[in-house]
Amino acid sequence: MIGIIGAGISGLSLAYHLQKLDIPYILLEASEQAGGYIRTIQDNSTNHRAYVLEQGPNSIMVDSEIQQIIEELGIDEELLPSNDVSQNRYIFKNGKYRKLPAKPSKLLFNRFFSFSSKLAIFKERRRPKQTIENETLSQFFERRFSKEIVDYALNPFVAGIYAGDPEQLLMHKTFAQLHEYEQNYGSVIKGLIKNKSVERRHTSSFKKGMQTLPKAFAQKLDRLKLSLQVTNVQKTTSGYTIHTNDEQTFQVNQLVVATAAPAAQQFLAESFPAFSQALGKIYYPPMVAVHSTYKRDAIKHPLDGFGGLNPKIEGLYTAGSIWTSSIFSGRCPEDEVLFTTFVGGTQSPQHTTNSKQITLGKVHQELSEHYQISASPLYQNLCKWDQAIPQYDLNILDAHRIADELEQEQLFVCANWKDGISLPDCIKKGKKLATKLAEKYSPKVVNE
Ligand SMILES: Cc1cc2nc3c(=O)[nH]c(=O)nc-3n(C[C@H](O)[C@H](O)[C@H](O)COP(=O)(O)OP(=O)(O)OC[C@H]3O[C@@H](n4cnc5c(N)ncnc54)[C@H](O)[C@@H]3O)c2cc1C
Repeated sequence: MIGIIGAGISGLSLAYHLQKLDIPYILLEASEQAGGYIRTIQDNSTNHRAYVLEQGPNSIMVDSEIQQIIEELGIDEELLPSNDVSQNRYIFKNGKYRKLPAKPSKLLFNRFFSFSSKLAIFKERRRPKQTIENETLSQFFERRFSKEIVDYALNPFVAGIYAGDPEQLLMHKTFAQLHEYEQNYGSVIKGLIKNKSVERRHTSSFKKGMQTLPKAFAQKLDRLKLSLQVTNVQKTTSGYTIHTNDEQTFQVNQLVVATAAPAAQQFLAESFPAFSQALGKIYYPPMVAVHSTYKRDAIKHPLDGFGGLNPKIEGLYTAGSIWTSSIFSGRCPEDEVLFTTFVGGTQSPQHTTNSKQITLGKVHQELSEHYQISASPLYQNLCKWDQAIPQYDLNILDAHRIADELEQEQLFVCANWKDGISLPDCIKKGKKLATKLAEKYSPKVVNE
């Protein structure tokens, strides 16, 4: 029996794939519903206007592997691909939002970057390869490209996706593929060209929001137990005993940690003190997501893109906004627009300590200034994550090393603090670990 602690998207995917392989498991989840960070709310409270609001992830990148899982779950009809306009990305530069070309090749012919940065992109192929231990994202991109690219492309992108700081995140942990391109081909650009994927990937959500996905996984599972918080794990001669808050116990042969690191730090403290200590070092910055809606005709900006990101160097209060109603249809009434704005993250955690009213006021002020909005918001909603996204910086290395060693003791990790934070990463690592664990259950071949 395999015991999985945590029914976020990682634990759900693992349980689903184990069930498909006929491997016995039990999936324990502390809260009343599965899905972890994936939380959609449907707010019908204001004048009967219906909003579909994502408090956690807004979208998922769908490739053929994820598409197949979505079809197996029977929710392919629910899939909502992003509108074409969302290919455009905007970055705040010198006081206004400017369009950043979607394809790196088009950067050379666009006026977003200075001539010297374009030259740096052009020359990257001939820059000598180096191997630098624990290089940060900023160090890597400044070495291979330019400081301007770090400030105006890398910085806002990393703040928007990872709530992170490129001066702290590690290249080989965060962008492992680009790191390997330099090591294997001598250049990032050469690697990108050689590995140019012919496979189509598209950003999607679901008609009723992202929570459709964990709900569909949960409905397929025979052995998901909700509202059971794991409080302690003890090692036994044949595996582990899992203790829960209502004093139930479960005997398992293998244990999979699929919770965030702070939760695992608690329930592993007695049996694995060194691991627990290392988990406690992983930094999760706080982050606030604010939803705001306005009348469409009160906004001058065309909002013809995915959203606008704010580089730290521009000194704004918010990290940027997703133009949710431009990306996906049906998020708000047709005569309104919906922004999802992010505040905080590693680069400005202090911005999350304001009261709700002050935060909402500051968000409205920035939106109205930079998108030329002439009216007050029709609706605002705020969600605070005290511990948002685990940072793959120097502090995470001990936890990763010990997690690898503990596989010898039948303890495995399937969570966003290892091997990728995105939803596809989490789903794919669940599938991969299921296959690996299934091998332990397959009959041994005896050589005569
Ligand atoms: C604001 C935000 C926006 C994001 N946007 C995107 C996006 O647009 N696209 C994208 O691909 N990714 C996005 N991400 C990242 C992605 O959502 C997460 O990395 C992913 O959902 C994490 O899933 P998980 O299963 O690893 O962990 P979690 O979601 O943290 O799940 C862990 C589960 O364990 C449970 N648990 C905790 N303690 C215990 C215990 N003691 N006993 C039992 N159960 C326990 C929790 O209740 C939870 O359900 C975003 C993240 C955030 C925070």
